[in-house]
Amino acid sequence: MHSFLRNTAKEILESGVDLQKVTIVLPNRRAGLFFTQHLGSLISEPTWMPEVKTIEEIFYDLAGNRPADDLTLIFELYRVYQDLSPEAETFDRYYFWGEMILKDFNDVDQFMANAGKLYHHLSEIKELESDLSFLTESQIALIRQFWSSFVNQDRDHQEKFLKFWQLLSPLYTSFQASLAVSGLAYSGMLYRKVAESLDNIPRPEKVHHFVGFNAFTGTEEALIKHYITVFGAKIYWDIDGYYLDDKVQEAGLFFRDYQKDKIFGPTFPEHIPTQIDDRKARIKTYATPLKTNQANLVGSILEKIPAGEAWEETVVILPDEQMLFPVLHTLPEQVDKVNVTMGYPVKNAPVYSFLEAVLEMQRYIKEEDGKLLFYHTAVKNLLSSIYLKSVNPGFAEELMAEMQLLNQIHVSAEKLHKGGELYQLIFQKLENDSLFSYLAKLMEALAERLKDEPLQRSYLYQCFKQLTRLREIFAGQDILTINREFFIRLFRQVFREVKLPFEGEPLQGLQIMGVLESRNLDFKRVIICNMNEDSFPPSAGLNSMIPFNIRKAFGLPVQEQNDSIYAYTFYRLLHSAEEVHMIYTTASDQGKAGEKSRYMQQMGVELGREMEEEVVFIPIDQKSPESITIQKDAEVLGLLDKYLIDEHGQSKTSFSPSAISVFLDCRLKFYLQYLANIQEKQEVSEEIDAAVFGNLAHLSMEILYQDFAKRKNRTLLEKSDFEELNKAWVFPAIEKAIRQFYHLEGEADTKLNGQMAIARDVLQKYLHQILKIDEASAPFKLISLEKERKYTAGLKIETAAGAQTVSLKGIIDRVDEHNGSVRLIDYKSGQDNKTFPDVESLFDREHKSRNKAAMQTMFYGLIYQATVPENTLPLKPTIFNLREMFGDDFNPYLQIKLPRAKQGVEVNDYRQFEDEYKVGLKSLLEDIYNPEIPFDQTDDLKKCGYCPYKEICGR
Ligand code: SF4
Repeated sequence: MHSFLRNTAKEILESGVDLQKVTIVLPNRRAGLFFTQHLGSLISEPTWMPEVKTIEEIFYDLAGNRPADDLTLIFELYRVYQDLSPEAETFDRYYFWGEMILKDFNDVDQFMANAGKLYHHLSEIKELESDLSFLTESQIALIRQFWSSFVNQDRDHQEKFLKFWQLLSPLYTSFQASLAVSGLAYSGMLYRKVAESLDNIPRPEKVHHFVGFNAFTGTEEALIKHYITVFGAKIYWDIDGYYLDDKVQEAGLFFRDYQKDKIFGPTFPEHIPTQIDDRKARIKTYATPLKTNQANLVGSILEKIPAGEAWEETVVILPDEQMLFPVLHTLPEQVDKVNVTMGYPVKNAPVYSFLEAVLEMQRYIKEEDGKLLFYHTAVKNLLSSIYLKSVNPGFAEELMAEMQLLNQIHVSAEKLHKGGELYQLIFQKLENDSLFSYLAKLMEALAERLKDEPLQRSYLYQCFKQLTRLREIFAGQDILTINREFFIRLFRQVFREVKLPFEGEPLQGLQIMGVLESRNLDFKRVIICNMNEDSFPPSAGLNSMIPFNIRKAFGLPVQEQNDSIYAYTFYRLLHSAEEVHMIYTTASDQGKAGEKSRYMQQMGVELGREMEEEVVFIPIDQKSPESITIQKDAEVLGLLDKYLIDEHGQSKTSFSPSAISVFLDCRLKFYLQYLANIQEKQEVSEEIDAAVFGNLAHLSMEILYQDFAKRKNRTLLEKSDFEELNKAWVFPAIEKAIRQFYHLEGEADTKLNGQMAIARDVLQKYLHQILKIDEASAPFKLISLEKERKYTAGLKIETAAGAQTVSLKGIIDRVDEHNGSVRLIDYKSGQDNKTFPDVESLFDREHKSRNKAAMQTMFYGLIYQATVPENTLPLKPTIFNLREMFGDDFNPYLQIKLPRAKQGVEVNDYRQFEDEYKVGLKSLLEDIYNPEIPFDQTDDLKKCGYCPYKEICGR
């Protein structure tokens, strides 16, 4: 297989030079490793190996210094910035800008631009002409263009930019001075220092061979040219005629310039290799709908590699780091060795999310009566994490269940600490001065528990290293006050950028790497994922404070150069490839459109031959979801037995009006809810939604009259009672109801949260209104309230198995005796209609406005009469719908009203309709037991809108 590094090693070897007197300089360490390996394989006798260095090492050695880490530099820059700008923002807010400014300073120095002039206020054309005489006309035109378009921007924007812009020149100068004092430096500064004093460099003892470079920075170019002209250095170009000879091919942009250069030009080989054209690699593209499908595709391509072929001849290039683990997880079994070379962002690691969640929780801690309370969402997040679950699995599960059951918005530290040591460490309130030590301690505790997970420990180690750096930087400084908010923001800013470097050593096994890591390396088979615009090449946009025109005028790299570097890296991969597989996705992802990379489009045109194309279909069912029908076989019918009354007059359960109503809405829903017992997922809810509000209203009314009747030892309510009821009984009843509902009875001193307090106020209004209506109809005598009396009935029906009696039951909100009638009262929180055309309509599932409330209150009539057979009084179904009660003409009684009739007729006695009602109900119950009528889905999709089973049904 053709290999640039191997060929270069061979060329150097064959030139007969004494390797001991040679220094090989490569763009990066990895290329150096491969070079040494190739050279080693070409040498048969023991001999001295040449010195192999990176260009970076050459510069740092000559400068006699190494750059400080970014965090230290950004902090130093901040110090200087604070001195210059009295209104400087806090360090965490500045951090992002700091990174960008530092990068700009680095570029300015790497490309040896005149910082003073670049950052000068260039809006004055006159100044522009006198100051920039060293620039060419076209460069000056670029700067002029920028400032003239700038003048057209709004004043506010202009002022902000100028203020900041004018600060950058003194910032640059003062930063250099301050670094000189502290002995620190950034990389560009060291490069510039070397490049500006090339004449002082002593002649090196060894001959330098620069191998495989492209796109030099200004300082690199100056140094290499100096080495070539003064020290006789050699240079080897890793090129191909494919992009060099085509004058507009972006991959050859730099090389074409170097070819024309009077120093570099003569170093180019006489015959430019044409590997890409000669080799005619098999090129195949794959379009796949989703990003994650790519990993499977990589696996299946690897599976087809013939046995016995060396894995190191295949590379998988991942322009998006997030694909690393999906690819690793789908590697076929035959891949026995893998070598990963790329940085993986710590922010994608579970342990980072955990640490972030721990800090985030600090934001929502409440202190009440000396107790520490943690917000439920934050607690739940942590309890669901593998770290807390694994130390005490039962505890985490039980606590989450309890939080849900009791609808706990806040959980006390006391309760959480019962989980053990790690819980005690995590659930505490942090003080400003303990933030660093706390996080370090937590990381140590986690590392201890992650002994068997080296990867997670490595993430932790990277985070720990960064934390220690931050701590060192902040220690002893007096310009920053660190508070919790600041720390959390800083944590996010700093740790998000940390990468875990995967760097496999000897070059064995399947190679998986990032785009830039592949420089100078050759592979027989290349598999590239994410061949999408915005991934490869990555999205345009240099992070810089220096506007495009000014960058261009001062010779700093702009997007065009970046594009060229990426294009070269791509075409470079084709130099030796015999097989190229390029995978792209067609669906958009996180704002990135599913557009195939321009390199693929370009190649299609340039190659002038067909590329194989495969569209990968992921089998997804695009038909409407299959309908679900549960046939009533013996097993299903058996489930209905629980409603039957046995010979002892007992049943396991009973039909409620809600169950009847659900069956009328949808037969499948009845099956899922009442027979299959698939329950709706419960969540802790802070919101008091309509259903909760309705429950609270019911409970408050029950408590109000129950407690009053108990205290007065009578059930008769007179008009005269209502003043007292309004004044002294409403508020405590509601308070008691809320505590009972949220299981806060044992915590009488716990304050109700905001939502509950609002609900309490609104409930008062409703209760006062009910009392007003009740006062108007007083006196009346309470017969029963809610659950204090069970009303049941048995109803005979015909089933396939013969006559059966089914059990019916219901909870009537209130039964009272009023004006010679028994009122069966239901409190409703909605706006239920109280009219219905006839009894038959109550059981007609096709009826457009089937009156559920009427069906329910008439059902109460049935069970009341069955439970109290001695009753001779008329039974009056009554509905107190809370939303209507405030109207002047509020009438709580059911009415029969034909569609076009102006007025309805009040249902004064259920018993007049009983026979008809029983016939309707009986027929419905017989349908439930009818083996010929399956439990199937409703055709009325409106019913599915709020149905908890709509996911099951795919509706
Ligand atoms: S989603 Fe629709 S069809 Fe399915 S159970 Fe609910 S109401 Fe019935």
